[in-house]
Parts: sequence; C-alpha cells; structure tokens
Amino acid sequence: MAILTWLHNAYGRDLIEGVRAALPGEDIREWPDAGDPDEIDICFIFRMPHGFLKPFRNLKLMSATGAGIDHYLLDPDFPKGIAMVRIVDQDFAARMADYVLTWTFFHHRDVAHFLSAQSRHDWAYKIMRSAHELRVGVMGLGQMGRLAAERLAGVGYDTAAWSRSLHEVPGVTCFAGSEGFGAFLARTEILINLLPLTQTTRGILSAGTFAQMPPGGVVISAGRGGHLVEADLLAALNDGTLRAATIDAFPVEPLPKDSPLWKTPNLYVTPHCSSTASLATIVDTFAENVRRFRAGAELLNEVDTVAGY
Ligand code: NDP
Repeated sequence: MAILTWLHNAYGRDLIEGVRAALPGEDIREWPDAGDPDEIDICFIFRMPHGFLKPFRNLKLMSATGAGIDHYLLDPDFPKGIAMVRIVDQDFAARMADYVLTWTFFHHRDVAHFLSAQSRHDWAYKIMRSAHELRVGVMGLGQMGRLAAERLAGVGYDTAAWSRSLHEVPGVTCFAGSEGFGAFLARTEILINLLPLTQTTRGILSAGTFAQMPPGGVVISAGRGGHLVEADLLAALNDGTLRAATIDAFPVEPLPKDSPLWKTPNLYVTPHCSSTASLATIVDTFAENVRRFRAGAELLNEVDTVAGY
C-alpha cells in the first residue's frame, strides 16, 4: 500500500522530502502522480478540495498537517469510518500563545494610540490599567487555548476560559457549555477565540456574542474563518460595541484585496499565521503515526470525527 501527499503551503518540498527520509520503507507518492488509487491507504494532505478523496476507496488513515481538521470533516465526501489524526505539540501551542500574548498586550496597552500619536508628534499621555484589572477570556481549552489561558494568567491577567465540558485550570476561572456562555462573555473585555470549527461553533463571532460583552471590548480570533460573521464584526467596530479586533482567519483566504476589512479602523488583519508547527514536528508526528498504523497500534492525536474535533 502507499501514502499520498502533496506540496504543503508553508514547507513545500521540504515536508515531502522529510517524510521520505523518515519513512524509508514506504511507497510515498506525490499528487498528481498518485498511481493506482486503490493502492493508497494513507493520505497526508494540507486542505484538499472537497471530493478529492473519492477515488481512494481503500483509504484508512487521513493525517492533517496542522491542528485544524474542520476542512476535512466538513467535506460531504469525507470517507466514513477512516481514522483522522492531527498535529498536537507543545511548541506549536507555545507559538499560538505568543500570538495571543502579543495582541493582548497590544490592545491592553493601546499600542495603536501611541503609534497614531507619534505620527502626529503628539505627546499623548495615557494612564494604563494593570494586567490584573483586565478581564480576558479564552474560548476553547484544547491544546492552543489551555496554554494561552495559562500564560495570560501567568502574566497576571484576570483570566477566564470557556469550553464544552468544565475544566479546572489553576488561576483561570472556567465556564462551560451554553449555560456558562453568557456569564463568561459578561466578564470578558478581551475575547480570544481558540475554538475548533464545528457545526456548533460556526458563526460564534457574531452580533449576539459581541452584544453580551462589556461595551468597548476587543476580539482576538486565531480559530477559523467560519467562526466569524464578517458583517457583524464590521458593524460592532463601527458602532463601538467593540473597540478593536485582531483577526487571523477569514471565511475567504487569502482575504480578497477589495475586502472592507483591510481598511476598517481598529481592525488588525494577520494572514493566518498565528501558529505553524515546526517542520520537524509535522514530519515526526506523521511518521510515528504511520509506524503505529502499520503495526496496528493506538494512533497519536486521533480526532473524534463525530464531535468534529
Ligand atoms: P482542540 O480541538 O484541541 O480544542 C478544542 C477545545 O474547544 C476544547 O476545549 C473543547 O471543549 C472546546 N470546544 C469544542 N466545541 C465547543 C463548543 N461547542 N463549545 C465550547 N467549547 C467547545 O483545538 P486546538 O486547540 O488544536 O485548536 C484551536 C483552534 O485553533 C482551531 O480552530 C484550530 O484550527 C485553530 N488553529 C489556528 C491556527 C492558525 O494559524 N490560525 C494554528 C493552529 C490552530 P472540551 O475541552 O470540553 O472538549
């Protein structure tokens, strides 16, 4: 049997060559040279188009090259009953925590105010609140959300988190489920989205959510574009419901050149770069899963395809 892969958006040929070096005994094929589709039992592909997997009738294992697996599971033609694995790694999560801390500091310390004042040669003094006075809230307590919440709390922010089931995280006030969402939002001045995209979380960054936050709040989203209702974000920034936002993932990527989001005041756009696992992590995790799969052993980081994350 054989493994099918294709060029990765960030690591390109290096990823394929890394996998070849790590799995010398495997028949590794690179799209479009898939050969006989019936010989493919493992796919290692970054965001293939929906329907792509249809010809591979003997596929048994699908591996993502990152953390998010929504794109695979939301494909109506995603094969039933195959195993789906993803990348889970402490350094990958640490890179995300860096992004979250960077933008939390940016908004807390109102860096935009000082950049703007400097451009006007304006000595625009401003009193700053302490971190412990600022209530930040993280949606999602998975590999990304948990470390981000721990680090925010470690810096001193008054930190809360919201997840599907109730967790205990030292120094973090935890909320869970739809019954805990309102109370979580009501105390959250800086809302950080690190949820997976599922049928339940789609469109969660919407007018209804923003309206439950204290007026003039901030949203930082490094989840998925499908979480965001763009029109609601623009309206909330325009009418002051939100003071500012930083968005890393968009419904359409790359964000179209003529999107109004590029020019919206107090909206900071980053190009889906908040965290990428290192090349070594992606190669090593995938290679280990292939070895385990061939040996019939338990896989690493297997996704619950029913829950969708
Ligand atoms: P995980 O699957 O590890 O996190 C899942 C967390 O979300 C869990 O705490 C889970 O709750 C919670 N959750 C799921 N559904 C709900 C719900 N309906 N209501 C409340 N909480 C819910 O994801 P990761 O931490 O790996 O990734 C988080 C996000 O970051 C994903 O969207 C991923 O795609 C994105 N990402 C973006 C990157 C970028 O560059 N922009 C890079 C890496 C990741 P429970 O604990 O109770 O199960």
